Amino acid sequence: MRRLSILGSTGSIGKQTLEVVRKAPSDFTVEALTCGSDIDTLFDQIKEFRPKVCSVENPSKAKELSQKLKDSGIDSEVLTGKEGNIACACIDSCDTVVGAIVGFAGLEPVYHAILNGKDIALANKETLVAGGDVIMPLIREKGVSMLPIDSEHSAIWQCLKGEDRDDLDRILITASGGPFRGKSRKDLENVTVEDALHHPTWNMGGKITIDSATMMNKGLEIIEAHHLYGIDCCRIDVVVHPQSVIHSMIRLKDGSVLAQMGKPSMVLPIEVALYYPRRGPSIVSEFDPFDAAMANLTFEPCDTDVFRLVKLAYDAGTKGGLVPTVMNAANESAVRAFLAGKIGFLGIEKTVFETVAKMEPLVGGLELTIDAICQTDKEARIRADEIIDGIIKT
Ligand code: NAD
Ligand code: MG
Repeated sequence: MRRLSILGSTGSIGKQTLEVVRKAPSDFTVEALTCGSDIDTLFDQIKEFRPKVCSVENPSKAKELSQKLKDSGIDSEVLTGKEGNIACACIDSCDTVVGAIVGFAGLEPVYHAILNGKDIALANKETLVAGGDVIMPLIREKGVSMLPIDSEHSAIWQCLKGEDRDDLDRILITASGGPFRGKSRKDLENVTVEDALHHPTWNMGGKITIDSATMMNKGLEIIEAHHLYGIDCCRIDVVVHPQSVIHSMIRLKDGSVLAQMGKPSMVLPIEVALYYPRRGPSIVSEFDPFDAAMANLTFEPCDTDVFRLVKLAYDAGTKGGLVPTVMNAANESAVRAFLAGKIGFLGIEKTVFETVAKMEPLVGGLELTIDAICQTDKEARIRADEIIDGIIKT
């Protein structure tokens, strides 16, 4: 039985994690749930799963939830702020923390959970992009498990099971291509927020959906795979596969290629992580090789002249240190500005490139610690916001 603390339980991954729990309640307990501000969803989850403690990032929303629970006679404790999230990640009664917060905000709770000996089921890729060089050594030092939830990384993990890591030659990470696959730079100039939020195969939170439209999601995933599987970024290839049936592949030294496939659903990788090393019950509908969607599985290269953030991510991941931390922070600021209607779609790329160019020389010699990572994230956001202000004015 896994005793879970689910960070970001009201989001897309959080809800699907609770779906897995709901299907097999005797396999799990829910010890803690956290969210940013969506207390209506959190209230319903608390009523159903009765965690001992929960946390809401927004203090006034936390107060509101606390009153609502009291009025309903439910005695879950309500914490707030970053500290509340960290406390929920470290609660004694949990053994596994599901990292499903979006963005850099997910890093510190996960870091503290590892320090406290918890296994980590990780969806929050930004944690590894910004802090992989600190997180992965800590995972090994504490002897806990890192259980990947991101579907590509779950696929790679499953393919690697039983293989000697020295036999791994390359990783072929698949990508749907997002809503703008096949578009030119000119086409991208005028796409709207609504266009960018319309993902062809996956239904996800807003930030990752925009990352899929810019293809930065694949850039982040290259760096995530580099940290999880100890492989250089230059040995990771992006394969655009619009049907999202093959979730990634590995090529071994002898030329054998192993792939993991299934319907595009995050429930399965969540289940794979939470039941590791065993397999859980069948939850998603059965895979049918004769389904019309299977008749035409296609593969194409990623056009990095159009989706330039993929190139930048390769470069940042290769340089390492705090460069990916800067890139990630700038991307988060830029995506937020795009979603708020402040900058255009290509303004995201401009912001990230310019922030990295400005900050790279400054972070070069810094020692990699959790404090340096948090400080760099903060500074990169300030720089990115200045660049965004510049774009707004022109
Ligand atoms: P989402 O926006 O749907 O949910 C995010 C969750 O984090 C919500 O519960 C929100 O309340 C919470 N949150 C946001 N900011 C917070 C803060 N400052 N403090 C505490 N909680 C905060 O996002 P999602 O799509 O579920 O993605 C979550 C993570 O999983 C992301 O890192 C994403 O890249 C990764 N991921 C998602 C999918 C997917 O299919 N959705 C697939 C692979 C990986
Ligand atoms: Mg993914």
